Formats: sequence, structure tokens, C-alpha cells
Amino acid sequence: MAFIRPHTGKVVVIMAMALVTAALGAIEPLVMKRFFDRLGANNLEALIAAIVTLVALNLAREAIGGVSNWLTWKVRLAVNSSLLEATVGKLHALPLQYHREETVGGTMTKLDRGINGFVGALSDIAFNAFPGVIYLVISIAVMFRLDLRLSLIVLFFAPLPALIGMLAAKEQTGRDRALLERWTNIFSRFNEVLSGILTVKSFATEEEEKSRFMSGVRSANSLVLRGVGIDTGVGAAKNIVGILARVAALAAGGYLAIEGEITAGTLVAFLGYAGGIFGPVQGLTGVYQTLRRATVSLEIIFSILDAEDGLDDAPHATALKELRGEVVFDRVSFSYKRGNPVLESIDMRISPGETVALVGPSGAGKTTMTALIQRFYDPLSGSVRIDGVDLRDLEQRSLRRRIGAVSQDALLFNDTVRSNIAYGSPHVGLNDVAEAAKAANAHRFIMRLPRGYDTVIGERGNLLSAGERQRLTIARALIKDPPILILDEATSSLDAESESLVQEAFSRLIRGRTTFVIAHRLSTVIGADRILVLKDGRIIEAGSHSELLKAKGYYALLVRNQAGGLITSAA
Ligand code: ADP
Repeated sequence: MAFIRPHTGKVVVIMAMALVTAALGAIEPLVMKRFFDRLGANNLEALIAAIVTLVALNLAREAIGGVSNWLTWKVRLAVNSSLLEATVGKLHALPLQYHREETVGGTMTKLDRGINGFVGALSDIAFNAFPGVIYLVISIAVMFRLDLRLSLIVLFFAPLPALIGMLAAKEQTGRDRALLERWTNIFSRFNEVLSGILTVKSFATEEEEKSRFMSGVRSANSLVLRGVGIDTGVGAAKNIVGILARVAALAAGGYLAIEGEITAGTLVAFLGYAGGIFGPVQGLTGVYQTLRRATVSLEIIFSILDAEDGLDDAPHATALKELRGEVVFDRVSFSYKRGNPVLESIDMRISPGETVALVGPSGAGKTTMTALIQRFYDPLSGSVRIDGVDLRDLEQRSLRRRIGAVSQDALLFNDTVRSNIAYGSPHVGLNDVAEAAKAANAHRFIMRLPRGYDTVIGERGNLLSAGERQRLTIARALIKDPPILILDEATSSLDAESESLVQEAFSRLIRGRTTFVIAHRLSTVIGADRILVLKDGRIIEAGSHSELLKAKGYYALLVRNQAGGLITSAA
């Protein structure tokens, strides 16, 4: 209702027009009656009057119908965009966890089909159902006035199509739901295939993926086809009921006319109503189906709108202003799923400007720690504080705008180099962008690109090499100029030259910032002010490289087992 309410005025006008068109339609059999009743008098005037009236009635109906169609589309499009605004806005706002669990292609399919289905259903109701009801009311009233017995005969048949429709509706809703699920699966896989086309090609599985896609399409089609079969049967049953009604009206009405109880005109009018009444009744049962269909669409829309929100800002949340960059974890415990602790009682105090290397086997909780610093999640117990303020008391946007995260899978958009570097800071000039690119060791390769800073770099930046992409994300972080940095080192090594360019860019980037590096390289770890060794969600060792070596603990073991300068792989 909230989505329709802003258009109440237009909806009322549309309904008023529907009322007029339906009334005009219901008058038609009466015009015929009048003509047939006057036919015996050998009256040419009556014929002309009937023809003129019929033409005028139908022209008026068409004209009003056209305007109301146009208005309906206006409302339809407006509802469509406000639904899109709500759902797309929500999708931006939903927490990371939601997006981890849902697939991109699936969400897109749901969004598309859900909204189109719902808006389609709405206009169906405005167009078919409402005028239908009015037509029915008027025709039934007129029929009763003309002849009670004939009316009862015609009306006996009237609810039958509705009953048939209702019996079929359950199957139809189930079918719609199943169909949506199949399409969602097909497109979520297809989306993954296109995003991971490199993997698909390198495994030479194009044919398999294509046949998987097509077998999905076939299974969806077979569902549609089975449905068409059922729908056709249901439609035919309804039509037969309509024919029976007309035949019964003709038989009973014909008999009454022969007996002289009703006029020929009345019989013609009844035949008109008996024929006309089933369209709207069909329309009404259609509405029942449409409503059930709309329910499926609404379920989809609300599965997005009602998804549990991210962490809301507290009502008293303050914006982060000047930031020194002190980060404190105070007995922080965390788990993604109940009973499955990922971090346990983490205590640490990082001074402004300090560089901390997080080291430990994969799955130890390093990424989770950095996610907590950005408040993608809240700790189960304990607190994370920046400059002494609990993150839960800060506005999230202001927090995240002061934290830079650089990782190998940071997203580059299919846009120019310049917009990618200036992402999130749209007002910086080209000079600043170039300065950042120089500091990130990216300027030289950018100038070699065909259009320099205006070169479009492909989806996810795939027209660039891994090292180049990484240097662009470093330039982007330099523009953002955050006091706190989170770096995720690449686990696979770049070639030696890119490697040294990237490392050099990193060392410029971290100067003067509180930095957390999820470190895989021994060289990075040695360069850090402090090393935190994480294992099974606990900090098991902390200190400088030489201190930790002396302690001969887990870290010393990692270092001893290092291979090719990478330490985590030894765990
Ligand atoms: P690391 O960065 O040290 O490799 P992570 O912080 O990524 O470790 O993961 C720590 C643990 O949390 C792992 O057991 C991982 O399976 C689990 N985990 C990570 N992300 C999620 C998530 N979004 N939902 C559920 N479990 C997760």
C-alpha cells in the first residue's frame, strides 16, 4: 500500500474511467433490445438510431480506455521505480553477510521478476478486475429488472468459472514459485560463469557450462509447457461453462419468447449479457490467480526488503572527526555462527602510526579482525575502540571513510583509470590523481596506456596485470588518505619487478598511518613494528621479529619453514 498510496489521485481517476467504460459496455445489450423491440414496426429510424448509438458508445469506450491505459502506465512505472529504489537501496545497505549468502545473479533475477510480476499484477487488477466488477454489477441489476427467471438461469452458471479458477490457482502458484527458483538458479550460475570465465576457459568446460545452462532452461521450459497444458484445460472448462450458459439462456428465453412472455428484444439483451458476463467473471478469477501470483512476487520483494539490516547506527552515534589512529581490542570475542568461536578474548593496543603484521595460518581469524575494525560485524563480547571511542558509538560511514582497505580483490570498476583512482573522492582534480599514481608507482604504466588516465580498464580492471591493478588500488587509498589502513598482501607472488614496485608503493602508503597488514611475506613481517601471531582465534605470540625468533615459538617455526619468502604456507 505504501508504494501505491502516493498515486491515489491517479488511481481514483483510473477507476472512475473504468466505471464509465464498464457502464457503456453494459448499456450495449439494452440498445439491441430497444432496436429489436421496435423492429416489428418496420422502422428504419430505429435501425439508424441503434447503429449511431452503438458506434458512439464504442468510440467513447475506446477513447476513455486509451486515456486510462496511459494513466495506468504512468502509475505502473512510478510504482516500479519506487520499488526499485527501495530494493536497490536496501541491497546497498544490507550487511556483508547477506551478500555472502546470496548470489549476485540470483538476486538480480529475483529483483527483476519480483518487481515486474508485482507491477504487472497491479495493472492487471486495475484493467481487468475493477471494470469487470462494475460491468457485472450493472448487468446483473439490469437483468433482474428485465426478467427474474432468465436472470437466475444465467447467474447459475456465473460462479462456475470462478470455482474452476480457484481450484487451479494452488497449482499455478506452486508452479510460479518453482519456476522462479529454477530461473534464479540458472542465472546465479551463469553470472558466476561469466565472472569466472577465465577459470571456465582454462578448465575447457565451456561446453559443460553451456549444457548445464541449457538443461536448466529446458527444465524451466518443461515446467512452463506443463503449465500451459493445465491452463489450457482450465480455460476450456471455463469457456464450456460460458457456452452452456448461453445455450440455456437461448433455450429458456426462446421458449418464453414463443410463449409471448418476453419480447424478442429482451431475449437478445439476455443473450448479450449471457455472453458478456463471462469475460468479467473470467477476469475476476484471473484476479484471484493474479493476486496469488503477486503474492509470490511480493514474497520475493519482501525477502529483500525484510532481510535483516546491517548494524544500525546507534541513535547517539557521533561522526568521527580528527583521528589519531589508536586502535584497541578489549577482550574481543566473535563468531559468525553461534557456538563456533572465531576470535577469543583478543586484547591489543595499537598506537597511532604503528604498523602491525597479522600472521598465522589460514582460517586463524586475521581477516575477521580487520572486518571488526571496519565494523562489518560487532564483537559478541568486549569492544573495539578507536581513539578511545567504542565503534558502536560512531557513525559507520564516517568510520569507514577514515579506514583504507587495500587487498588483491579490491574492486576496480569498468571505468577510466582516473575515476577508479578517485573512487569515493569524486572532487579531486587530475593533478592529485596523478600525484597519487606517482607515489603508487602507477603513473608510468598509466601513461603507456592508449588513453592515459582516460583509459577504460575493463570489468574488475581485467585489462591490466595483477601488479598494475594492485598499484591502482594503492593510488586510490592514497587519495582517500585514511589515518588507518588495512592491507591484505597478495598470497601469490607477482613477478620480481612488479613485486618491488608494489612493495615500494606500499611502504609510501603506510607512512604515518596506523596499519594492519595481513602479511604473507617474510620481508613485510620483518619490517613491521609489531607482529601478532594468530592461531585458532587467539593471539598466541606478540612482539618484534627478533623477539619472536628468540622466543622459539610458533612464529620461529613459521619462519624456519618459510618458502620463497612466503610464511603462511608453511603452517
Ligand atoms: P584468515 O583471514 O586468518 O584466513 P578468517 O578471518 O577469514 O581467517 O576466518 C576465520 C574463520 O571464520 C574461518 O574458520 C572461516 O571459515 C570463518 N569465516 C570467515 N568468514 C566467514 C563468514 N562470512 N561466515 C561464516 N564463517 C566465516
